Amino acid sequence: MTAISREQALALDAADPLAALRSRFVINDPELIYVDGNSLGRLSRDTRERLVSLIDDEWGSGLIRGWEHWVELPTQVGDQIAATLLGAAAGQTVVGDSTSVNLYKLACAAIDARPGRTVVVTDDDNFPTDLYILQGICERAGLELRIHRTDIDAGITAESLTSSLGPEVALVCLSHVAYRSGVLADMAAITAAVHGCGALMLWDLSHSVGSVPIQLDAHDVDLATGCTYKYVNGGPGSPAFAYMNARLLGSMPQPIWGWFGQREQFAMGGDYDPVPTVGQLQIGTPQVLQIAGLESSVALLAEAGIGALREKGVALTELIIALADEWLTAFGVRVASPRTATTRGSHIVLEHPAAWQLCQALIARNVIPDYRNPNRVRIGPAPIYTRYVDVWDAMDRLRSILESGEWEQFDSEPSRVT
Ligand SMILES: *Cc1c(COP(=O)(O)O)cnc(C)c1O
Repeated sequence: MTAISREQALALDAADPLAALRSRFVINDPELIYVDGNSLGRLSRDTRERLVSLIDDEWGSGLIRGWEHWVELPTQVGDQIAATLLGAAAGQTVVGDSTSVNLYKLACAAIDARPGRTVVVTDDDNFPTDLYILQGICERAGLELRIHRTDIDAGITAESLTSSLGPEVALVCLSHVAYRSGVLADMAAITAAVHGCGALMLWDLSHSVGSVPIQLDAHDVDLATGCTYKYVNGGPGSPAFAYMNARLLGSMPQPIWGWFGQREQFAMGGDYDPVPTVGQLQIGTPQVLQIAGLESSVALLAEAGIGALREKGVALTELIIALADEWLTAFGVRVASPRTATTRGSHIVLEHPAAWQLCQALIARNVIPDYRNPNRVRIGPAPIYTRYVDVWDAMDRLRSILESGEWEQFDSEPSRVT
């Protein structure tokens, strides 16, 4: 795509088949340009209504009687996410707990399933919580955590990963879309390479789910988890999903034994006897409010269709790159994301030495991006509610901030939450 005029951006919006979906979201401030959908998605009207009715009617009036159907929500919404976004058949996905906790459960289960193997592999470009969780597991179990070196802009490839694989490897855990660059890893090739050495593959889908079509079953992925509050729009703290391939179910117990994974839970038996299904990944009482809200959020993505969302995500990110090349290169801004659409997710990373200050200046101009170390402005235009003109205006304001030097008024020290 070449840089286009604002009128042309408006014309793209007029022709956009997803355009009507924007009105299904709560947009209280029409002036605000929100390009941080990869950190916290917007609230949809359906999700809001569902939450209000759950609080007032189901909890408020129904009280404990609600559990008759609430108890099915984790697997029901898990199957819905699997069918809509993960390319996975029913019965392999459950919703609950955070991505961090699910990484712990799934990684431990995988390690136990490969006795005698002493190495867990990840890469230094993985998300911090993934690294910490794996460090903790390896330290307790006396295993080696092998951290593969990945160039943060090029991303991980199957070819490069081979040097870290071998018969001693039990598990490989990687992110599908890299949070700092937007690189989309080749799930098929990497999973095949990991299986080639007899190890299990655990994918973190936090930055790809809801923005990139995923084929867990077709690529024979073993395990996966990911956040639902980013492109899936489940709201702050909405629980993650956990996927375990059907061929592993019943033979790979996860390590936190809780009563929601128990056969005949309400028999209240004294000994743990887990269900042989994906339900064993459950621990305790599910986050009913958030899972119910999430169901409505996923239904909206299903209405859009992941294919159409991906197509628009590609077009929006192409537009950001074209405008950055045309307007921002002269000010020392570098596009740190891949230029080939097939190898990137739905966010674009712009690198500049004053990235933190640029983010603050954008926020002061009513544009919300986010900042990531080192020196990166992330622009994450969620395709379901972001217009072409939003992206155009955001980039135009960034150009003007660089031209005027107004970013220099902002503190150069990042705050606690970035
Ligand atoms: C956002 C994100 C997380 C966050 O995990 P939580 O347990 O929900 O805090 C983990 N991994 C990746 C790759 C992420 O992008």
